[in-house]
Order: sequence, then C-alpha cells, then structure tokens
Amino acid sequence: MNTPMILDALAAVHRAILANESHIESLDRAIGDGDHFINVKRGCEVLAQERDALAALPPGAALTAIGMKLLVTIGGASGPLLASFFLAAGKTIGDKQECDGRQFAAAFANGVDAIKHRGKADVGEKTMLDVLIPVSRLLVELSGTDTPLSTQCVRVTAEASHGMLATRDMIATKGRASFLGERAIGHVDPGSKTCEIVIGAVCDVVLLHDVALQELA
Ligand code: ADP
Ligand code: MG
Repeated sequence: MNTPMILDALAAVHRAILANESHIESLDRAIGDGDHFINVKRGCEVLAQERDALAALPPGAALTAIGMKLLVTIGGASGPLLASFFLAAGKTIGDKQECDGRQFAAAFANGVDAIKHRGKADVGEKTMLDVLIPVSRLLVELSGTDTPLSTQCVRVTAEASHGMLATRDMIATKGRASFLGERAIGHVDPGSKTCEIVIGAVCDVVLLHDVALQELA
C-alpha cells in the first residue's frame, strides 16, 4: 500500500457510498435516526477536497490526516469511531513510504482495536464491528500466507458480507439501535453495511493496482 492507492481507494469508496445511498439511508431510518448516509457522505466529500494535500504525504501520515479530518467533520457515533480507525492505522504504518500485506493487516487490526476501545463494543453487538473484527482477523491470517491477492480479496469481501448479514438477526447492545430491543431484529445494521461497501471498494482498488503492477513487470 502507498499513498496513490489510498487516494484511489478514497475515490472508489466515495463512488460506492453514493451508489448505495437509498440502501444505507433506509437502514439507519429503520433502526437509527436516518443520518448515517449523510454522515458518511460528508466524510467522503471532505476527503475528496483534501486530495492534493493528502497526495503530498507518505501513507501513514495520509491516514493520520484522514482520521483528523473525519474527527472534525463526521458527526454521530460513527465519526469518532471511524476517525480512531485511521489515526491508529496511520500510527502503525509510521513513516514508511510503502507497506506490504503484513504491515497493512497489522495497521487494519490496530485500527479495528481502536474502534473497539472507543466504542466499548465487540462482535455480536450489531455494529460495524461485526464486519470489521472478522475481516481484520482474516486479513492477519491471510497476510502470513502466500495466498494470491485475488483470492484474499474474494475471501475478505465474502467475510464482510457474511458479517454484515449476520447483524440482521442480532439485538443491538450499543448505539441508538439498542433502544429498540427486539424491534431491531430483522434489520441489518447501517454501519456494518457501510463497512461492507467500503471493503468491497477498497478490494477493487487493490486488485486494479495489482494488475497494473503485473503488467509493468
Ligand atoms: P448515530 O448512531 O450517532 O446516528 P451514525 O448513524 O452515523 O451515528 O452511525 C451509526 C452506526 O455506528 C451504527 O450503525 C453502528 O454500526 C455504529 N456504532 C454505533 N455505536 C457503536 C459502538 N459503540 N461501537 C461500534 N460501532 C458503533
Ligand atoms: Mg444515525
């Protein structure tokens, strides 16, 4: 991973979020307060405006700058949580110019741990962590193997979808949906849907960069 990949991933995530507007919005309207799409969209827009500034930074500093920006622009529960992911991931990467799969997985895992700590939540509570925790574990596991990148991406996106769908049958014990008790059952958690979309978009970018590298070789 390097800064150009981060910039491409941000653009791909922005497109994917916009393409899923009605879906994300309807989920937060069902079991939240309906602002989740707006919150995430605002974050994407602000980061798009920061593109040139981010392009000048090494990847760790770019992730840290993304976290700082999200902290002051996205409201709701999800803003500080997503910001803490990027701050911790950026710190893990430090001042490297490039990082390999193992370093990326470690940065992702530390980012997810930061969300766990900030939100005082874990798997099974009907939140974004039901996608992020299993994906993080899988990434760490795969990064220690010679599994081809394309297979890693297929497995990671499948894991994200599985985690997102699993939230449908859960009772929420964190966030606004926890006020609904059993009435939240039958609805997918909006934050987990967003994370699934983001992970799918990032995987597409990872694959595109991989193909470009192979063509250069
Ligand atoms: P708000 O809940 O303040 O309206 P958003 O609608 O932007 O904020 O985000 C809601 C999402 O945040 C939920 O769908 C859930 O995935 C996530 N979330 C809420 N509380 C927590 C928590 N304590 N830990 C992890 N994720 C959480
Ligand atoms: Mg909301």
